Amino acid sequence: MNRVRFAPSPTGDLHVGGLRTALYNVLFARKTGGAFILRLEDTDRERNLPEAHKDILNLLRRCGLEPDEGPDTGGPFAPYVQSERLALYAEHAAKLLEAGHAYPCFCSAERLEELRQQQRAAGQTPGYDRRCRSIDPAEARQRMASEPHVLRLAIPLEGEIVHQDRVWGALTFPLADVDDQVLVKSDGYPTYHLANVVDDHLMEITHVIRGEEWLPSVPKHLLLYRFFGWEAPEFAHLPLILNEQHRKLSKREGTGSVLAWLDRGIPPEALINYVALLGWHPSDEREFFTFAELVEAFDLERVSRAGAVFDPAKLEWLASEHLKLVPTPELLAQARPYLKSTEFARASDDLLLPLVEAVRAGLRRLDELPARLAPFSLRLTEPDEEAWSWIRADAARRSLPVILRRWHDGNYTEAEAMLEAVRQVGKETGIKGKELWMPLRASLTGRTGGPELKAILAHIGPDEAVARLARMLDIKP
Ligand code: GLU
Repeated sequence: MNRVRFAPSPTGDLHVGGLRTALYNVLFARKTGGAFILRLEDTDRERNLPEAHKDILNLLRRCGLEPDEGPDTGGPFAPYVQSERLALYAEHAAKLLEAGHAYPCFCSAERLEELRQQQRAAGQTPGYDRRCRSIDPAEARQRMASEPHVLRLAIPLEGEIVHQDRVWGALTFPLADVDDQVLVKSDGYPTYHLANVVDDHLMEITHVIRGEEWLPSVPKHLLLYRFFGWEAPEFAHLPLILNEQHRKLSKREGTGSVLAWLDRGIPPEALINYVALLGWHPSDEREFFTFAELVEAFDLERVSRAGAVFDPAKLEWLASEHLKLVPTPELLAQARPYLKSTEFARASDDLLLPLVEAVRAGLRRLDELPARLAPFSLRLTEPDEEAWSWIRADAARRSLPVILRRWHDGNYTEAEAMLEAVRQVGKETGIKGKELWMPLRASLTGRTGGPELKAILAHIGPDEAVARLARMLDIKP
């Protein structure tokens, strides 16, 4: 059975790149009847952020990417956590040391820094010069008991590693270019490389699907598998995600933040749909996918090497396509948090449903809803400049007072009857189209765009409509 994992380091906000890695792992597992495992790689104590752990889990849950198994103790949705498994890494590091595949290094941080500077000045790639590798093992053991040290991987001095990647094909890494990687830090914590390989083996991971930035680590990882005498999993490295300037989308760019998109009311299923297309293409031109359709269509063989450009406009278009399918009561329920600081915060569903119905066409994000509902505001907004220019136009001076009189005298109760009166005034005065309707809309809402007048009239009611028109014309009806 295939077993895959998402192994984020809780060092910050979940990035769209991380979401895509998690998603491709889940899709691969679902498609092939395998298991998806979640593992928090929190052994870098300087970079860990306590909140990030919880945040990553929350976002994965909101996006429906739940792991299939976890440690026995944790209950549902508990990931494996590396800082709770330290003894395992220590045990495996000891085996490498014993076999001569790892060695202690006593070099001070100052010496390593000096070395790096010298190498840079000489135009060389910085790397460890392997000074401690020649210390006699018996002496090294003795010094380990009293001196601070790290453990390094003894990379063979010559030869090469040939790697067959599911996305990149055959790649060859000359070992002369690979640094003696630190495996255990001076605080006794494993580095990513050691903990990652040990866990992938112990968790019986069959396919490692992760970002392209980990490709340079492959020779180190494959050597570790060889030194432990383990079979290595298959690897698939996913292409970089680029910003619109075609540079790597950085963690700091707001567009890369999963939380920021969800907070703006992009539905999780739309974000998942969009992120799926960053590096993978279906065999046809289709772009809209539900999660189930993605599972059906996904194929690791169709992941490309070319960097994928993150296009916010495309994401928002897909979001509008997904939002179209949401029934209005559900849309309103999802949008409620966005109405909190508006006058509609406590409005009933009965009142809001027709309003949402009137404004929902083409909605891309739920956070657009308050602005769209603004024309229904019962606090009359000051007309903007464009609205004023319609209200002051010649046609308006002729039509609006007549409309006001008809509405006032007509005692209408229905929006449709009020509109019919407007049409009648149009016929009598010869004022048509925009010239007739825009000044009216502008007077009632203070804006020139917005939902259908009928919906606005139905919502504010005839008395308020008459009062608004009168206020705008400064006449007492
Ligand atoms: N902890 C690594 C990360 O933060 C995992 C890389 C891998 O999947 O091997 O991305």
